[in-house]
Amino acid sequence: MIKVRVPAKVNVQLGVGGLRADGFHDLANVFFAVALGDEVTAAPGEGVTLTCSGPDAAQVPLDDTNLAARAARLLAAHHGLADPGVHLHIAKAIPVAGGMAGGSADGAAALVACDALWGLDTPFENLLDLAAELGSDVPFALLGGVALGRGRGEILEALPVTGTFHWVFAVADGGLSTPAVFRECDRLREEAGTGSGDTDVPTPDAAPALLAALATGDPAALAAALTNDLQSAALSLRPSLAATLAAGTEAGAIGALVSGSGPTCAFLAKDAEAAEALATALAASGTCRTAHATYGPVPGAAIHPRATES
Ligand code: ATP
Repeated sequence: MIKVRVPAKVNVQLGVGGLRADGFHDLANVFFAVALGDEVTAAPGEGVTLTCSGPDAAQVPLDDTNLAARAARLLAAHHGLADPGVHLHIAKAIPVAGGMAGGSADGAAALVACDALWGLDTPFENLLDLAAELGSDVPFALLGGVALGRGRGEILEALPVTGTFHWVFAVADGGLSTPAVFRECDRLREEAGTGSGDTDVPTPDAAPALLAALATGDPAALAAALTNDLQSAALSLRPSLAATLAAGTEAGAIGALVSGSGPTCAFLAKDAEAAEALATALAASGTCRTAHATYGPVPGAAIHPRATES
């Protein structure tokens, strides 16, 4: 049995360019891996089967659309395994459809877990290519740390970071569909008269102040540099998130933003103690379902050394 831990992500910058002819947007996406994560266990089995546990388990599809199952089949096909056998169990802590790339995380974890279970020893570069085939956010879940994603977000460059940052995530009731949030972003741009195409919207790039804050390990500077071009679209589709962001700021967060396409809200705290107090205050505020204190950056999908038996 192989157990893999995999982090969720928050985008500390999510710069969204214009809509391309292929339906995607050019992104300047600074991914940050946090300790709040899922655990995917791979055990020998017949065919590819799946179970899931955790508070959001009922929202996770257990058929072939699950990214963990798709990852197992893709890895098997890459190696020409005609009849792959694995039972995957997802212990789900990452909010589902929450803007924290939980499905992508499970896809990355399944690649690592099946690679070890089946003794394939796939080079990391090849795993990254397979991850990019599965989805734009999957390669980062393999890499972890902090990275700039360009293109659809899948062309990654690891970024230097000093120290640990402390975060709180406020989990909303229900999810938001990522494609729907991108469509709303385009609609709001059209409505504002700026146009939404890739000739109207400048190609985004990583903000120098953000990169400096990460490199020097300065939480106040990072808080001041947090940006998310999808935030107004997420707020337009889910206006109640404004109250969540305000509650976190009132309770002492030094920075606040919607995580990715939302509806999870992310708050930066000045230290671990402040993060615990902030999570307690947010959970009691009535503006979210629950709140978790966590930290990062942490590594990408990795085998849990003491939980692995042959
Ligand atoms: P992102 O931040 O990458 O846009 P997200 O965090 O908002 O994604 P996910 O939790 O990845 O959203 O789930 C989006 C949808 O993907 C779910 O509603 C579900 O139908 C499907 N899905 C497929 N595989 C998984 C998985 N392993 N865990 C959760 N959802 C999955």
